Formats: sequence, structure tokens, C-alpha cells
Amino acid sequence: MSTLFLRTLRDDPADAEVPSHKLLVRGGYVRRAAPGVYTWLPLGLRVLKAIENVVREEMDAIGAQEILLPALLPRDPYETTGRWTEYGDALFRLKDRKGADMLLGPTHEELFANLVKGEYSSYKDLPVILYQIQTKYRDEERPRAGILRGREFVMKDAYSFDLDDDGLKVSYQAHREAYQRLFARLGVKYVIVAATSGAMGGSASEEFLAESEVGEDTFVRCLESGYAANVEAVITPAPEPIPFDGLPVATTYDTGDTPTIDTLVAWANDALDGEFTGADTLKNVLVKVREPGGDWELLGVGVPGDREVDFKRLEASVEPAEVELLTEADFAANPFLVKGYIGPKGLQDNGVRYLVDPRVVDGTSWITGADEPGKHVVNLVAGRDFTPDGTIEAAEVRDGDPSPDGKGPLVSAKGIEIGHIFQLGQKYTDAFEVDVLGESGKPVRLTMGSYGVGVSRLVAVIAEQCHDDKGLRWPREVAPFAVHLVIANKDDAAVTGAGELAEDLDAAGVSVLLDDRKASPGVKFKDAELLGMPTVVVVGRGYANGTIEIRDRFTGETTEVAVDSAVDAIVAATRG
Ligand code: ATP
Ligand code: MG
Repeated sequence: MSTLFLRTLRDDPADAEVPSHKLLVRGGYVRRAAPGVYTWLPLGLRVLKAIENVVREEMDAIGAQEILLPALLPRDPYETTGRWTEYGDALFRLKDRKGADMLLGPTHEELFANLVKGEYSSYKDLPVILYQIQTKYRDEERPRAGILRGREFVMKDAYSFDLDDDGLKVSYQAHREAYQRLFARLGVKYVIVAATSGAMGGSASEEFLAESEVGEDTFVRCLESGYAANVEAVITPAPEPIPFDGLPVATTYDTGDTPTIDTLVAWANDALDGEFTGADTLKNVLVKVREPGGDWELLGVGVPGDREVDFKRLEASVEPAEVELLTEADFAANPFLVKGYIGPKGLQDNGVRYLVDPRVVDGTSWITGADEPGKHVVNLVAGRDFTPDGTIEAAEVRDGDPSPDGKGPLVSAKGIEIGHIFQLGQKYTDAFEVDVLGESGKPVRLTMGSYGVGVSRLVAVIAEQCHDDKGLRWPREVAPFAVHLVIANKDDAAVTGAGELAEDLDAAGVSVLLDDRKASPGVKFKDAELLGMPTVVVVGRGYANGTIEIRDRFTGETTEVAVDSAVDAIVAATRG
């Protein structure tokens, strides 16, 4: 440590909010170069490489073959699939000296599909799984928590190519199991949840979410059935339609100053003498959406009034279109939008696309806006008095909501996405016409899967799940060093003995971080706790009496052992 390129910090960095970010910076694992762009220092790089190796071993074990594509890419293939535009502001675009457009790869489906097309031509070559561990670039809107959400980050991305859907399912399952093994080896606590496919396109997909309160993803699970999904992927169970017969006619009322759901419900309970709640009202939220390369268009979203629109769910539902809330100027430009009193009729009369929550089935009656200040309509029946343009998953999902599989209530928790597996199908192989000659002599279009692991993000995720108030506590599989050997005794014999012990451990295959600095034992112990090697060995006062101390950073347990048997005892300790 006296020569190691490492400076630990006493204070948390000013820009850090989450524990992993604070500890990785204080411990000298990473340093910020620009927002969302980080330098890996010696200790951090060792953790990163250790994670890469676990990922690599588990990928190799399913027969995946490692290659390395460039990060600097031509525009053309991304133009072919539309992602040059669809990726929006998150794509780092640049021009070369001749003026040709290029980009920094955010993910590589296009390139892999092209590569396989170029190399393979017969069904006999398939299936194949290729992967890389590579630096990706995304100009994230909100880079966050250090390396947790970077603009430059390391991802393992794998791609499977199969002749048919059955083959794709096998490749998908192989990845799913490889991910279960690798996350278990890394000591990460995670759940597998149903996911939306986002900008990737394609159908079946699942995310691996590390459980963490600082996570940006919310997922729900049903403890009874084991159903688990990212909230963005939760499908609202639609109730049975209700026959129209005997439903009262729709009537418009003067409701006074009732622009909010609460004021409207209070009015209804008073004026209609009923027991109404927000769930009896239909709230119409106006947003604007823009398809890639298109213009902004208004969209009305109707949800039961007791629920908020969850913007992330809305975003996921309209992807790849962008969505924004309306500005005052938008309202001014569309005077038929009477704030607080917007109803289905006004929207549809003015050609605004109108999508509703799946609970708004035919025959349900609603209290909703009548498109005039101070007016609402009661008993407006879906399918009879208005017909929406379709349904949309945009309403918030709440604890206690019924599970889509009909088995009990949902509970929510936060997570950080560490892996994502997709059955893409033929989106990319269609775009590039990736065909091989089939067994029957006819061309067969390949079907594809893509599978990501957030390698650099995992450094932060593990730090997040494995720390205490004193510092990091690395699981053995990823710790930069197995042993942190602290010299806490200035006597020459102790210093020499510690050096010899370090060499013996090294020879026994145990990696050692030797604290030979001229600093006080107190400073050294604090750093050992901050840096978080799983085993701390102290050559201290006891050395004169022939003993050293072994501390377990995880359990806090301390044992004294004789110097003579120290190597064996330490080797045993590092085997956990
Ligand atoms: P997120 O929803 O967190 O933005 P994503 O769904 O866009 O992630 P994918 O395209 O599925 O990410 O990428 C595969 C993996 O790469 C993710 O599961 C995640 O672990 C990691 N990853 C994605 N974006 C970042 C980032 N900005 N910084 C670090 N890791 C990332
Ligand atoms: Mg993802």
C-alpha cells in the first residue's frame, strides 16, 4: 500500500447520494472524469475484472463464443433498423473528418446480425451464441450514483441465432440459467421479473433486478403465485364487460368549482346522495407524444380517478415514441381542453387519440368531465356513450392490486436492473435479411435473442448490497484482494514477519494487500474497513508473543492464531 496508486478520502464526495457511490469514491476505487464517466483505479479495476471473469466463465459454459466488436460504429445499420432515430437523445452521434455520420454503440444487435449474415450460410452452422464484454455509450438523461448509471459503462451483451422458435427458447433458457449461476456466484440478491422490451423490440423478455432501496425500477410480486414483474410490464386484469340494459342515461350536471377528483367526489356524494369514491370517476390526463421522426400529437389517457398516471409506465407503453406533459402554451393552443373538466367527448370531437385504462370496459359507468368549466357528466357508459381508441397501461400499480394471474395481492419493492434477456425474434434478421439455406433447400430466416449484463453496474450493485456503516464488504468472488494484511507494530521483527507472511500467502495462491504504510494503526484499521477485503489479518502487539489476528470483515469475528500456523489458518479463512 505504500506504493499503491490509492488515496482514500475521509469525506463523502459532494455529488454522491447513494452508499455505493460514496464508498467507491472514498475507497479510491473509481474517480469521476465527467458526469456519468468514470476512471477505474487499481482496486476498482480488480473488482471489475473479477466480475467480468465470472460472467465470461458462465457464458463460455453454455457454449457462447467471445468476440469483440468496435464501439465506434457506422450509421448505416442503425438507419436500416430505424434506431438511429428511435434512440433519440440517448445516442452519442458524431461525424468523421469526411462528414460521415457515426455513433458510439449503445447496444449491438445490428452489428451482430450483420456479422452472422456475412459469415454463415447453412442451417448446419446454427445455432450459435456470440458475446462480447465491451464499453457501451448512452447519453443518459440522468446519469446517477456514479457507475450505477453511467454514460460510458461496461456491458456483457450476448446474441443467439437459431433456425426456429423452439431453438430460440432453448438459447433463452440457457442464458436464463447461466445468469442465475453467475449472479449467485457474485453473491447478488435478485429477482427475475417479467419486463417490457423497450427500444429493443421483440416479445418475451425478463429482467434480473437486484433488490435495493436505491433502485430506479419498481417491481411487484405476488407472494402466493411467485408472479413477478417490473411495474412497467404489469398487465392490468380487465373486468368482464357489463350489459348496457337498464343502465341509467348519461346526464350532465353543474358541479360548480370541481376541478379535482376530491372536489368532484365531494360534490357527487352530496348532490347525488350516493357513496362515490375516486374510483367512480374517469380522470382524463392530457399528454403529447412524438413518434420517432414525427411531430408532437395530443394523447388523452383515461384512468380511474383514484389512480395517478405512472409516467414510467406511460413511457414504456408508448415507446419508441416520446411523451411529455402539456405546457400552458399547449393548452392555450387547444382551447377545447378545459383543464379540470376534460371529457371523452371533447377529445374525440376534436380528433385527439383517446386511450383508457383496461378497467374501463364496456358497460362501466363514469363521472367525468363535460368539457365546460364547472360541468361533469354522470353515468357516462363506456361502449355506449363513448368508444375509446384503445387501452393503455399507464395507471399506477399499487400494493394490494390483484395479481394478473388472479392469485392474491401484489406487493412492490425497488430494484436495480443487472441483466435483461430478450427473445427478439426476427426484428433484426428481417431488417438485414439474415437467411441461411435450410435443410429443405429453401432459405430460412434466423431468429434472434439478445442478453445483457451490466458488468460495471454490478460493481456498484454489489457495493450497495454489501456494505455497513464502516465501509465495503466484498464477497470473496469479487474482492480485489483476498486478504488485507495490516502491519500494526513498528518493531522490525514484526515488519519483517508480516512481509514474509505476505510472501507465503502469495505463494499459497492467496492475493494480499499489504498495508506497510507509515501510518497509525487506527488509520490503517479504518482503511481496512473502508476498503472491505473479506479477510483482515493484523500483525500487531501480539506478534512478540507469537500470535496474529484474523478478522472476518463480513461477520466481524476475530480469531487469534499462532504465527507458525498463520498461513494455514488464513488460507482456511479465505476458503470461507
Ligand atoms: P435501464 O432501464 O437501467 O436504463 P436498460 O433497460 O436500458 O437499463 P439494457 O439495454 O437492457 O438496459 O442493457 C443491459 C444491461 O446493461 C442492463 O440490464 C443494465 O444492467 C446495464 N446498463 C444499462 N444502462 C446502463 C448504464 N447507463 N450504466 C450502467 N449500466 C447500464
Ligand atoms: Mg433493460
